[in-house]
Amino acid sequence: MFAQVALNLPLAQPYTYAVPEGLRSRVAPGVLVSVPFGKRAQIGCVVALSDDAGGVAEERIRSIEDVVSPEYRIGPELLALARFVSDYYFASPGEALASVSVVGFRDVKSQRAEFLRLVDDWRERSTGSLTPKQRAACERLEEAGFPVEPRQNLAKAAGAGPSIIKKLLDLGLLEVHDPPALEEQPASLDFAPHLMPTAEQQSALDAVLAAVAKPEFRVFLLHGVTGSGKTEIYLQAIAEALHLGKTALCLLPEISLTPQTVARFQERFRQEIGVFHSQLTRRQKLELHRRIQSGAVRVVIGARSAVFSPLPKLGVLILDEEHDGSYKQNETPRYHARDVGIVRAQRLGIPVVLGSATPSLESWHNAMGGKYELLRLSTRAAGIELPSVRTVDLAAEVQDQPRPSLFSGELIAAIAQRLEAGEQTLLFLNRRGFSNFLFCPSCKWVAKCDEDDVALTVHRRVRRGQQASDSQADLFAVTTDPKDFILRCHFCGSRRDAPTKCPECDSDGLITVGAGTQRVEEELAAQFPQARLMRLDQDTAGGREKFLAAWERIMSGEADIIFGTQMIAKGLHLEGVSLVGVVLADIGLFIPDFRAEERTFQLLTQVAGRSGRIAKGEVIFQSYMPTHTAIRFAMAHDTEGFMAEELMRRRKLGFPPFTRMAAVTLSDADRDRAYEAARRLAFLLGRLRSSVRPPARITVNGPTVAPLARLAGRFRYRILLRAETHRPVAAVLRAALAHPDWTLPGSTRLTIDVDPLDLL
Ligand code: ADP
Ligand code: ZN
Repeated sequence: MFAQVALNLPLAQPYTYAVPEGLRSRVAPGVLVSVPFGKRAQIGCVVALSDDAGGVAEERIRSIEDVVSPEYRIGPELLALARFVSDYYFASPGEALASVSVVGFRDVKSQRAEFLRLVDDWRERSTGSLTPKQRAACERLEEAGFPVEPRQNLAKAAGAGPSIIKKLLDLGLLEVHDPPALEEQPASLDFAPHLMPTAEQQSALDAVLAAVAKPEFRVFLLHGVTGSGKTEIYLQAIAEALHLGKTALCLLPEISLTPQTVARFQERFRQEIGVFHSQLTRRQKLELHRRIQSGAVRVVIGARSAVFSPLPKLGVLILDEEHDGSYKQNETPRYHARDVGIVRAQRLGIPVVLGSATPSLESWHNAMGGKYELLRLSTRAAGIELPSVRTVDLAAEVQDQPRPSLFSGELIAAIAQRLEAGEQTLLFLNRRGFSNFLFCPSCKWVAKCDEDDVALTVHRRVRRGQQASDSQADLFAVTTDPKDFILRCHFCGSRRDAPTKCPECDSDGLITVGAGTQRVEEELAAQFPQARLMRLDQDTAGGREKFLAAWERIMSGEADIIFGTQMIAKGLHLEGVSLVGVVLADIGLFIPDFRAEERTFQLLTQVAGRSGRIAKGEVIFQSYMPTHTAIRFAMAHDTEGFMAEELMRRRKLGFPPFTRMAAVTLSDADRDRAYEAARRLAFLLGRLRSSVRPPARITVNGPTVAPLARLAGRFRYRILLRAETHRPVAAVLRAALAHPDWTLPGSTRLTIDVDPLDLL
């Protein structure tokens, strides 16, 4: 017997291995095995079994060493989905499977969760030797019926910390137990009651529930302003799937996966909800995998990779904030969870609900063209009006003030009013650090990273208490002593001291340009010394734990002014906030990416939506160009107007959604080698495009220097392929890569990004 084993390496094909006698009963498609590869062992996934070696000389075939994933197996549905991911996104079968597997290709034998149980005769065994806390823990477990749980869960059930659990194990009062056999839970339909739908919600629900009941593959685009009650529709769609004895999957951006969100699902369904987020340990992922696969967990909510949740009998797939960039993975396989989810649903014949207040242009275009079904929720569910939005023209503001601050008079007044009323203010600035870059006005030198071709961000060393008293010249340019600053690369994380003089021209008039969250903090502290400030950005609230802790503090009213980056912009419910200020709405408009306008519009709309979830709120955008399309439409809450205008622009430029793209990047530490490889590939692509059948118009742009010209010490050249549909783009690329004229130097790296979202 032979097995085809896919390895997590860029290899075109799975390798053939012999299956030793002793492993025959355990080796099956979807099982992880360790195999010899070159001089080392590798872990791979069995994709097929066969009786012959498929033409490979038998004496050259090596044997599988071991099965490394007892009780773990990727089912046939997901194996097939991995094949799609591999084909479509130009990843190897093993690279695709490693993502689909959720736990990666690792030896997971030792990663099995350690299941513990309280021994039945704990009272007899412990005779008087327990501390009150230890005794209480045992009593709780006894009351709970001696549950068998992974260590962490058991600790929670016992209301005890890890040290008590360890002590009880040492005392022999807890024992290691086999994992309980999981049986599919009978559908518990004891749901908390639904909300009474509004008329608009009802008509959306009619369409979605019919498709769930049938079941039938359809894609619904649910376009509803923030607070319009989209989540209620998700909950009722999930309930319908559960009623029918099926399971449900709801994807959210990682950042929206807060305890509040989870609680909302849990409260409704009163049953175990599986929560998949990136910070679960491998052990936790395995355990969740086991519970999902067995049918014990019937509702899964999670971020991008949860699209591969092994839910049997999936009945509906929901994707909230469908426009969110975090659904696209930015390493191989570069898949988009929305698009993979739609393929998965199509194969299963079940409906998909895509929800957003600001749909992606791609989805909107599909809805306009009848490929998706558009469902609209045009008003807020609880009858609260959308906030009123004003813009403050910073250009005028700068002229009137000799020493301008980051905040206009209007914004200051509005904040002061909120402080007086005891309401919260949210300030958004999409840039952390102190300012954007260090600049020499005389010779135009900009401080850049040694490894990456990106400007270093200026961070202040001394954090609080200092006032930005020395601002001059421009609102966003400051002259200060470089000794106060440190320069950091936001790409590779490297840091260095700021020079005191320009390394090019020796001038000592270096200035820092732009403003980041640190500078906002300083100016706020100076303007409102009484206010309690809270900064939320990668530096203060990076990582899930810190972020959630910060969140708790905001919810309990421990901050008057909350300010930060992206982190505060998205899908969070902030009841106490009645004022939202955007410090510089124009940031992001001039990034060299055709999606810059779309992203800016989405971000501004999302930020504005944070205001007044309870009572009528107010929003102020500060901008140097208040009449810009993205800002004008965001101000008017006119998403459909923005999309209509932006679609016209895209059509004219021949950009998605009117074309499909692939971005090919060639990188090498040697600039010439990278360029030479890119030039040869572009030439070959140009030559081959007329041979693609059926004929299609294919555009090959490049090679050009990628907007991030150098990353991690490698020079990057970019080729952009475009055609009206995906098929010819993939075909010409495949033809070129398989062509005898094409070779890739060993040191040069080739990456292919199909349907790229980020063109840097
Ligand atoms: P979205 O997901 O579109 O941002 P939510 O589903 O969070 O909106 O709804 C916003 C608020 O409106 C929530 O507090 C929710 O409980 C409430 N809500 C939603 N639908 C209804 C309804 N039919 N009747 C009353 N309140 C509703
Ligand atoms: Zn760097």
